Amino acid sequence: MSTTIHKLIIPTPFPVGDLNAYLIEGEKLTLIDAGPKTEEAWKALNEQLMKLGFQAGDIEQIAVTHHHPDHVGLLDYFPDSVPVIGHRYNDVWLQQDSVFFQQYNEFFFRWFERFGIPYPPQLLVKKLKSPMDYSCHRSLTKTIAEGEQVDGLEGWRVLETPGHAQGHICLYHEGEELLVGGDLLLAHVSSNPLLEPPQENQTERPKSLLQYNQSLKKISELCISCVYAGHGEDVTDVRGLVEHRLKRQEERAYTVLEMIKEKPMTVFEVCQRLFPSVYEKQLGLTISETVGQFDYLEAIGEIRLDETNPYWLYYAQ
Ligand SMILES: [Zn+2]
Repeated sequence: MSTTIHKLIIPTPFPVGDLNAYLIEGEKLTLIDAGPKTEEAWKALNEQLMKLGFQAGDIEQIAVTHHHPDHVGLLDYFPDSVPVIGHRYNDVWLQQDSVFFQQYNEFFFRWFERFGIPYPPQLLVKKLKSPMDYSCHRSLTKTIAEGEQVDGLEGWRVLETPGHAQGHICLYHEGEELLVGGDLLLAHVSSNPLLEPPQENQTERPKSLLQYNQSLKKISELCISCVYAGHGEDVTDVRGLVEHRLKRQEERAYTVLEMIKEKPMTVFEVCQRLFPSVYEKQLGLTISETVGQFDYLEAIGEIRLDETNPYWLYYAQ
């Protein structure tokens, strides 16, 4: 029996545009990702379910690909009796756990200083957290990890694919060569490997871009005829697009290296040069992207770090 999977297009207030949620008619009627917590999103979800002959009350479980508000906010509209399934790292985000967010503040205060960002860190962190207004207050009912099958979704297996988010997963159906990909691989834009504070068993700042590249390579080695992406069109040429994304990233890293060869720089100085028109408005995204290039160059031995100042300076080797 082949899988029946429906794409539900949900509006979001974010620059990325609409979210794609997916309804899978498995043994359990399963929603993958939900949408942001807005009335418009809830209305769009219900209208599209109705066209398919369902209503929200028919959904038996919800799995999330990752914790970002555009994917999980609408969970608050579902009754507590509907199980929510995801990687365990999502839980503190979904709950908006106060201890975690205290650590989150401290993490960004510390790293913003190291990156050489000259603005008041309290303001930056407040701005960084503002999308959380569209998130939920829920707990995971069940956690899933690499290789596990999802209950009620026969044939679908979990792939851990960190980078865009630490708790990011994809669901893979090997027999049908299908991947529900979350935000790992999008057709129209490259996905951002976002900075995140470490979780329980992580001790250092996760190097999101390096993780993200590994996750891309991981899916490009699988047989996949279609990626149902979290935003935009389906992706059919997975290997081609992964190769393209990795190549563009490497090119950007070498652009950064050329800058550092002129003179040692902080992450923030390079960020300003890479994104002169948007770095102030989108500091979270652009700093994440920039520090990713530094992590990459450091990993391949092209740059080294001077940690003796409060702001860290990077030198070309
Ligand atoms: Zn996301």
